[in-house]
Amino acid sequence: MEKKCPNCQQWTSWKGNLTDACLHCDTLLQQSIVTERDVWLARESEIKKNDFFIPKETDGPLMLATRKVALFFHIVFGAIAWFFIWMFVNVAA
Ligand SMILES: [Zn+2]
Repeated sequence: MEKKCPNCQQWTSWKGNLTDACLHCDTLLQQSIVTERDVWLARESEIKKNDFFIPKETDGPLMLATRKVALFFHIVFGAIAWFFIWMFVNVAA
């Protein structure tokens, strides 16, 4: 598979990986997506530091349920976000 380098405009081989770089100038061919993924991962680790999802001893049944639902939606939306990033990487050849 070949792809035009966004930096030097020369054709270079591209395997569709996020880490593939231009053979001529070494620019990452998917720089925007890599950045986007890094931002997402940074936000993700920020959320993990937030211990909202971890049950506390003082929690009542309602609060425990709320945390479980919040964690469920957190995982589902995270998976959807990843799916769209994956789709974009694989379709935007
Ligand atoms: Zn290049």
